Amino acid sequence: MNNLSKRIAIIGAGPGGLTLARVLQEAGYNPVVYEGEASRNERQQGGTLDLETDSGQKALQLAGLLESFYQVCRFEGQSTKIVDKSGKVYQDDTADEVPGEDHYSRPEIDRTVLRDLLLDSLRPDTIQWGYKCLEATPVDDHRFELHFENGKTDVVDLVVAADGAFSRIRPLVSEEKAEYSGVSMIELNILDAANESPELTAYNGPGTVYALDDHKGIMAQMNGDGRIRVYLGFQAGRDFLESLDIPYDEPEKAKPKLVALFADWADELQKYITSANDVITPRRIYMLPVSHTWESRAGVTLIGDAAHLMSPFAGAGANLAMLDGAELALSIINNDDLDTAVRQYELKMFEYAGATAAETKENMELFFSDNAAARLGELMNSFAEQ
Ligand SMILES: Cc1cc2nc3c(=O)[nH]c(=O)nc-3n(C[C@H](O)[C@H](O)[C@H](O)COP(=O)(O)OP(=O)(O)OC[C@H]3O[C@@H](n4cnc5c(N)ncnc54)[C@H](O)[C@@H]3O)c2cc1C
Repeated sequence: MNNLSKRIAIIGAGPGGLTLARVLQEAGYNPVVYEGEASRNERQQGGTLDLETDSGQKALQLAGLLESFYQVCRFEGQSTKIVDKSGKVYQDDTADEVPGEDHYSRPEIDRTVLRDLLLDSLRPDTIQWGYKCLEATPVDDHRFELHFENGKTDVVDLVVAADGAFSRIRPLVSEEKAEYSGVSMIELNILDAANESPELTAYNGPGTVYALDDHKGIMAQMNGDGRIRVYLGFQAGRDFLESLDIPYDEPEKAKPKLVALFADWADELQKYITSANDVITPRRIYMLPVSHTWESRAGVTLIGDAAHLMSPFAGAGANLAMLDGAELALSIINNDDLDTAVRQYELKMFEYAGATAAETKENMELFFSDNAAARLGELMNSFAEQ
């Protein structure tokens, strides 16, 4: 008896939920993905992601999509420059467009491109768009009834929460909530950077620049669509973004106030703010406690941010979400009993996600520490030597 006849519902069409659906579908399963947004184009998906060999790329391999990923990823996007506020360089590592052996470790892909790759790999009827899940209520000791904002319901043998940071399903197994991490960010974009800001584009290069000092940072990434996406990061209290009294919805008025926060930083770094030509988005960064675990419960489990939300300072969240999706799928495929499959996945995931969450928290502290640029440079160089 295998699990093929079981009704498996995945809440959320992010990288985690889509990877799970794909690996299951390849093995003959018919999972359904319920996504709250109305279509794949409802919302901009955000920045570029580097996919690591032992997590994101491993998941894509298990999903049969690694070669397709290599066709669309940007190997040169791995280039990294680390500077302090004066512009002093602590690391400048340029990766080639054509991958050498060592350059398969973290190629970049725009989030939209990754999502399209995963969406297009699924049968067209897999995703139910416009199904925002409000709650899941137990029907018996194994099954749950899902309730959606559009009035629809569904009874399922397994509900997988892949619904991100503020999961509606998490309370079924855990009392933990996403808490403010102590870091706030303000996102700016320089669209068509090569034409609009050629000097800055040359300074930035094809990858990421980390400018860190004074417990804050300017982190800038070249994206595949030609924009430079800039995150201003601050170690600050929960109300910091409001306390600045900056009109974020009026970029031309907001920019001088943002530059003033970096008044003694090098000109080329201030240009990341003055050159911005799109909307400005303030956001608090949230996280779950490091090593978040729960008692396994029949009929429900969590993957990705729903299970282990962490700050972006190790670039691990999407990678782990995809690995979770693939690991859970394999466990379902390889076990005759669904509850055993879920438990085995959870035990394995608690271990690797706990380790990464601890590393991410250390990185976050390092990014906003004294001498952050020098310390991050040392850390990156030590990885390069391994
Ligand atoms: C600024 C920033 C930069 C980041 N950079 C990186 C990086 O470089 N590398 C990296 O690996 N990670 C990065 N991350 C983290 C990464 O974005 C997340 O860890 C990852 O997207 C989690 O994937 P997921 O599938 O678990 O959830 P999500 O990507 O959050 O997807 C959840 C999906 O569920 C849907 N949904 C939500 N609620 C409901 C509901 N009630 N009903 C139905 N659908 C619902 C949402 O619409 C969404 O489509 C970054 C995060 C931030 C904030």
